[in-house]
Amino acid sequence: MKTFDNTVNGAAVRSNRTFESKNPATGEAIGLVPHSSADEVARAVAAARAAQPAWAARPDAERKALMMQVAEVIKANADYLANWVTREQGKPLGGVGPDQVPGSRFELWGCEVWTQVPASLDLPVDLAFEDATRRDEVHRKPYGVIAAIAPWNWPLLIAIWQIVPSIRAGNTVVIKPSEYTSIGTLEMVRLIAEVLPPGVVNTVSGGGDVGALLVENPDVDKIMFTGSAATGSRIAAAAAKTLTPTTMELGGNDAAIMLDDADPKAMAMGLFWGAFINMGQTCAAAKRLYVPEALHDAVVAELKALATTMPMGNGLDAGIVMGPIQNRMQFDKVVSLVERARAGGATIVCGGQVPDGPGNFYPLTLVTDIADGAALVDEEQFGPVLPIIKYRDLEAAIASANRLDVGLGASVWSTDIDKARAVASRLQAGTVWINQHGAIHPMVPFGGVKSSGWGVEFGVDGLKAVTQPQVISLKKG
Ligand code: NAD
Repeated sequence: MKTFDNTVNGAAVRSNRTFESKNPATGEAIGLVPHSSADEVARAVAAARAAQPAWAARPDAERKALMMQVAEVIKANADYLANWVTREQGKPLGGVGPDQVPGSRFELWGCEVWTQVPASLDLPVDLAFEDATRRDEVHRKPYGVIAAIAPWNWPLLIAIWQIVPSIRAGNTVVIKPSEYTSIGTLEMVRLIAEVLPPGVVNTVSGGGDVGALLVENPDVDKIMFTGSAATGSRIAAAAAKTLTPTTMELGGNDAAIMLDDADPKAMAMGLFWGAFINMGQTCAAAKRLYVPEALHDAVVAELKALATTMPMGNGLDAGIVMGPIQNRMQFDKVVSLVERARAGGATIVCGGQVPDGPGNFYPLTLVTDIADGAALVDEEQFGPVLPIIKYRDLEAAIASANRLDVGLGASVWSTDIDKARAVASRLQAGTVWINQHGAIHPMVPFGGVKSSGWGVEFGVDGLKAVTQPQVISLKKG
């Protein structure tokens, strides 16, 4: 079995300790991943620190050109990296385009686009004030060294969201991938580091203990974290000790509300993918669907027709649309939430049974006759399950959507856009989509409210988030 390495200061670094990465479709070990030591973490941060001043001093045009080279490297290695994502994360290879399954190839295409867009963006100097006596300009400066901590659901794409804007703006990065999906990230960084100066991007793989060593390092100037609220809270506490700023992209429990004029047939496919993309293991996926009583049966029938016909299996096999749940902890959580719903009297419309055989497979599951307060509705289940909740009164549905302490995404489904907008503006979420869900875009800021986090990624706002303002104030006359 191959042993993979960290990349530090442009070179491969082999750790004494390793752990196995497993294929969630088969349970087989697929490679040995470094468990970075405290010394290795310190050396990675030191390499990023040493490389940062020269990197920030390079003309903007040079950094932009290098970012475009990074995009080319991703494109040239997309098949190789997509293969690792499927073997390690579980999502099918799929393809790119409206009729293709959004799997690993889609993730790699996303990596390419989310590199090209920040490469093409500028952070112009803002003129805050000017009169006859003074001129005040706001310039943007990189923080310095960014520590990035990534989750396992979209491992390469989220790594790119953290790395690319950071280095585009003149920071250097040390990234810790999730212990469940390290190989793809280690390989992607190894490849892109070949076209960047040494030390600009570095990796330290390992578990939460390695992440803790990284975020506690006093030479880290900003932390970008994507993961669960529980870990986010621990990282925020560690960051408080050194007063290190953070961006927190945390969990959600997105509500989707259908209005009474919605068209179940026309909207079923959008709702289906809004809930089940990546087996529901997506932070901004629809996790609870509120439907008017009159539409309930039609919506359930349309979604059931889709959920029961999607081929599930090893994502390397042709024609597979749904893969396994990525890890056993997540699998057990999904099983337990569905069983508690069943025991509480809910109807399992389809799915809900663990199949025989290897791998963390769990069928796409629709649950009805369930209400707010059930754990399956109130907790982020982060899996291939959708509770469908009937409502009589739209005000009550809006209150339901807003009653939880999370607010990443939400969606409103209607044929009347004005009505949908009016509901959207009342939902407490970082993004409210209308007639789509989870439709993120590299130019559009994305982030959560309430305990879904703070700060945004993507677009000009995302670039600003990895810089700090510096005011240059001139006295005139
Ligand atoms: P997690 O919090 O368990 O782990 C995330 C990362 O944090 C991993 O790399 C882990 O090793 C590391 N970590 C754990 N303890 C740490 C510590 N004390 N210090 C530093 N690092 C530590 O999350 P997960 O299970 O990998 O991801 C799923 C969660 O991520 C879900 O809640 C999901 O909604 C959320 N998520 C949010 C977004 C977003 O953009 N808001 C995107 C994807 C996933």
